[in-house]
Amino acid sequence: MGKFVDAVPFSGIIRIRDMMYGIEHPFRLDQGDVSFDAPGTVQQAMHRAIDDNHSHYLPTTGVPRLLDLLAEKLRRVNRIPVRTPEDLMVTTGGIHGLYLLFQSLLEPGDEVIVPDPAWPPCMGNIIAARGVPVPCTLHEHAGWRYDLGELEAKISPRTRAIYVNSPHNPTGGVLTRADLQAIGALCSERRLWLVSDEAYEDIVFDGAEHVSPASLPGLYDRTVSLFTFSKSYAMTGLRLGYIVASDAQLRERMKKLLFYTCSNVTSVVQFGGIGALEGSQECVEGFRRELEARRDLFYAGIREHAGDIFGGTPPRGAFYAFLRMTDSWPPPQSPRAGSRSWAMAEHLISRGRIGCVPGADFGAAGEGYVRFCFARDRAELAGAIESMRAVFTP
Ligand code: PMP
Repeated sequence: MGKFVDAVPFSGIIRIRDMMYGIEHPFRLDQGDVSFDAPGTVQQAMHRAIDDNHSHYLPTTGVPRLLDLLAEKLRRVNRIPVRTPEDLMVTTGGIHGLYLLFQSLLEPGDEVIVPDPAWPPCMGNIIAARGVPVPCTLHEHAGWRYDLGELEAKISPRTRAIYVNSPHNPTGGVLTRADLQAIGALCSERRLWLVSDEAYEDIVFDGAEHVSPASLPGLYDRTVSLFTFSKSYAMTGLRLGYIVASDAQLRERMKKLLFYTCSNVTSVVQFGGIGALEGSQECVEGFRRELEARRDLFYAGIREHAGDIFGGTPPRGAFYAFLRMTDSWPPPQSPRAGSRSWAMAEHLISRGRIGCVPGADFGAAGEGYVRFCFARDRAELAGAIESMRAVFTP
């Protein structure tokens, strides 16, 4: 790698984070983190693991009990026809899963079709594997879904995979079962891998359905599915994710890289994962319900106090408001590199202490939008709205 890594982009979210550290009493709506704490079942299981001296090396792909529980969950909840727990491995969070997967899947120059906008580490990990992300627009008017004709037109002789992320960061769009069936059919016809990032599988609103593409008939063998405990169990800092893939060669490659990057995922954290899965799942539904209420509060606040500045329909999944900037907000004299969304983000951070991420950071189709995370607690959301009112009051 060496010099090559210099050419791999770093996410603008990091630049925003650095700006936020310079602000006193900030509203941290920039970070994709929930305000909840991990449930007691996770804490107690980790305490027990410490008391029981689980401080030694483990099997590379994961603690057997955790793999068993995950295989059972994937079959029961996601309807994925996992054959044995050997079909999966745990990772140091979902981001590590993406790293292992793209390094194992791609030859230099291979293309992966990604949504535009998209979560920047998706592109970063493809580029780090010497692959080429090929953006395909998600359309706001279609609930941030693809035009399937456009998606098909992006396939070239170099295409190796289509990456989908539903519910989606940053837009909150949720792909329908029919969308995923059509994308799966494309992958089968054109002999492509389907990479499914299901980080927000538990966070859907208004009765929307989360569908795991690997559960659709005939698709398990060409799908690699990535999951994480980060959002469902408020375990962002603990770093626990998992990958399921039926292809043994691909798994063998990922296992090798898993070993070389961390030997095994931290033992205590894996026991925390066991606690999460053995315990009551009420917390997951509790978080989801509260996030739906926060979404509604946030959008009501925006409509009332910044309705002439921002537009957009409440999302059906994930926990981001990806708001369209109307033409009524005048950009300052020198917007950063001509980007209105960067100008807006800098304005809100410097004048209003409101953390947010410019849409341009998620790809060309994100320009003109700003992302706010509404998974912060209600007081912080209310503070951000009040501050926004003050910023935009002439
Ligand atoms: N995929 C997407 C789309 C995400 O937004 C995130 C978290 N921001 C992840 C994967 C992975 O999260 P983690 O590494 O915390 O598991």
